[in-house]
Amino acid sequence: MSDLNVKDILISKGFHYNKALGQNFITDGNLLSAIVSDSGVDSGDTVVEIGTGAGTLTRAIAAKAKKVFSFELDKNLISVLDLSLKGLDNVEVIFKDVLKMTDGELKEIVGGEFKVVANLPYYVTTPMIMRFLESGLDVKSITVMVQKEVADRFVATVGSKEYAAVSLAVQMRGEARVTRIVGRQMFFPMPNVDSAVVKIDVDKNKLHGVDLSALSRLFRISFAMRRKMLTNNLMSGYGLSREKAIDVLLKADISPTVRGEALSIDQYVKVLNVLKDFGTK
Ligand code: SAM
Repeated sequence: MSDLNVKDILISKGFHYNKALGQNFITDGNLLSAIVSDSGVDSGDTVVEIGTGAGTLTRAIAAKAKKVFSFELDKNLISVLDLSLKGLDNVEVIFKDVLKMTDGELKEIVGGEFKVVANLPYYVTTPMIMRFLESGLDVKSITVMVQKEVADRFVATVGSKEYAAVSLAVQMRGEARVTRIVGRQMFFPMPNVDSAVVKIDVDKNKLHGVDLSALSRLFRISFAMRRKMLTNNLMSGYGLSREKAIDVLLKADISPTVRGEALSIDQYVKVLNVLKDFGTK
């Protein structure tokens, strides 16, 4: 299917783009193949795609994967997809919101192990990625097009200005890297921002034995007031006295004057262990 064909189908079906659903489509064949290549998907893989759109990325994934389960919200795309995905027997489009589905419901459709590949709707990027990272589902990797600024935060390392609670939330469950930057002109209609493709190789046992939900809470508390010292954030987040908060940091070999953005994941794990030893709730 050529680039022109999909645009023609959209026009012939009188399709109206829904901005609120983050509908910025890609039709460039080279870019679509490059995203699939970045994902490392091959003939043994089951893929979950979020946001079928006009089915352009779906087709590119289907050309490499064993099976594609593509989730979409907008039923106005049905007549477009009937044409653009015609003849593909390894694609199933499901008109459901995965954010509203349980792991069990998803497992029933998708089966076991899978990879996520998607050009995500901007309004829901982080919840969508966290939905898969935090789930009990067998997700091997997540390769997604997101707003460039968001991608920068996912891969940010300690000390950088992009480093945020979400950097840690992603990196404690896998290895994340940006595989390519994609200019806004590659989308139709054109958005106001540039994008990037991020690949996360998921490893849910990366921090073996660590209570990940307690660690996530510590990240949120530590970054709650970004300009304040970590001591202050620990005081207000856990209801500790200044003396106790300083003691926690000293016991974890961390200076009480640092900010949350100065700590690596390993240092946060140390702080968490001291908090636990102190019986902090
Ligand atoms: N994959 C297509 C492409 O690359 O051209 C479309 C990408 S477009 C950025 C995002 C798509 O996600 C839109 O078609 C939109 O309707 C759909 N969408 C928005 N929210 C969704 C949700 N919660 N679940 C599934 N699809 C959603």
